[in-house]
Amino acid sequence: MDTKLQELKNRLYEINDLNMAGGVLGWDQATYMPVGGAPARGRQMATLGRIAHEKLVSPEMGQLLEDLKPLEDSLPYDSDDASLIRVARRTYERQTQVPSDRLAAFFQHSAESYQAWTEARPKNDFKSVEPLLEKTLDFSRELANYFPGYEHVADPLIDFSDFGMKASSVRQVFADLRAQLVPMVKAITEQAPADDSCLRRTYPKKQQIAFGEKIIRAYGYDFNRGRQDETHHPFMTKFSLGDVRITTRFNENDLGDGLFSTLHESGHAMYELGISQDFEGSPLANGTSAGVHESQSRMWENIVGRSRPFWEHYYPQLQATFPGTLDDVSLDTFYRAINKVQRSLIRTDSDEVTYNLHVMIRFELELQLLEGTLAIKDLPEAWHAAYEENLGLRAPDDRDGVLQDVHWYGGLIGGAFQGYTLGNIISGQFYATALKAHPEIPAEVGQGKFDTLHTWLRENIYKHGSKYTAPELIERVTGSSLTIEPYIAYLKAKYGELYQL
Ligand code: ZN
Repeated sequence: MDTKLQELKNRLYEINDLNMAGGVLGWDQATYMPVGGAPARGRQMATLGRIAHEKLVSPEMGQLLEDLKPLEDSLPYDSDDASLIRVARRTYERQTQVPSDRLAAFFQHSAESYQAWTEARPKNDFKSVEPLLEKTLDFSRELANYFPGYEHVADPLIDFSDFGMKASSVRQVFADLRAQLVPMVKAITEQAPADDSCLRRTYPKKQQIAFGEKIIRAYGYDFNRGRQDETHHPFMTKFSLGDVRITTRFNENDLGDGLFSTLHESGHAMYELGISQDFEGSPLANGTSAGVHESQSRMWENIVGRSRPFWEHYYPQLQATFPGTLDDVSLDTFYRAINKVQRSLIRTDSDEVTYNLHVMIRFELELQLLEGTLAIKDLPEAWHAAYEENLGLRAPDDRDGVLQDVHWYGGLIGGAFQGYTLGNIISGQFYATALKAHPEIPAEVGQGKFDTLHTWLRENIYKHGSKYTAPELIERVTGSSLTIEPYIAYLKAKYGELYQL
């Protein structure tokens, strides 16, 4: 058994190495690669991906997993070895259900569709991507149907990123959340909007980088095991537990853009950096779900990084970083500016209160497309109608409507969006639990100290990697299943104070 277990580990390390090497190529492509490198780079990444996939779905891997079943069953559920076998088996089963040639066809289609989207969006040309999106919808249904026995056709797609969740459970949670958010948005937007013009003064990039890096260093992001570079679309990427990088972008006339994306990505990175070193190179060395991952980025970005105690500590330092720029802006004005709530058209620019409504619109449209109750040709109008109904706004065109997000054009339709809102909900639940254990956390944040929170997160969440599924982890950490109550209480306390609700 021990030899077989070692053989499984060796095979998994090899697959991991290929994937991580592909990750380095992808990071380089998004940061420093000259444009001339593009054609070969695409092929090189595809080659590594194909070899890794072949190794994963090989008959030898299937045999090993079968041979190791008795060992898995004999070990405690949460032992490292049982968890490794369990998670490897889940990945193996997922990957072997889909014929490789269909997967390859889908990846090729995605690349084509993504390219078309990058051209269609600036031209406001939905028509040119419509046939591609039809094909994406077919692929999405086809992929779902390799996993029969579902309740809703979106279930297998949701399961890929948020294992253990289903369309019906997400729909229920979202409906409950929506019922709380709609009156809140209404009450806030009936008031005079906050003045956030102070964020749009001139903020030189060099100082922005230095200020953001000072904060994430204080958070506990370890620059000996990471680095930050610039890119068009900020992301976090991991090559090993000793090298977890983040990327961001800066706008010299928008302070919030770069700063909060740095804080956001550092949250994703600290999650990965906090995974137990014992899992290095194995499938357990990953965050457990899209939702739990997003709970960490949103916690460090919003719950901590947009809180009043945080800025009581950092605002004088921010003022000193940009001499003269914020002299006439009080802490209170600044705090209101970074927490301005408004009905808007763009998800990525939206505030904590309205953000989830943007996500729900997309989630509901995805379900309808997959169900066949909405046709691709009617999607642009359905988008506008949903925005009017939920946010009282209509985009002037499709560029800021249905062409706004890359997800449907570079991936599947289904499973892509729910994780963002689940992340917010989970962040509220985890933070409330941390506060119960350590009520001193907000006071420490007010002194620029984050050790207690970071250590609690590492001990309770990060170190487990993907040993536990998201529902298991939430239950284990908070003693209850997924619930919106703590997140709603957080929003009500914060925005109730800001807007005297
Ligand atoms: Zn994120």
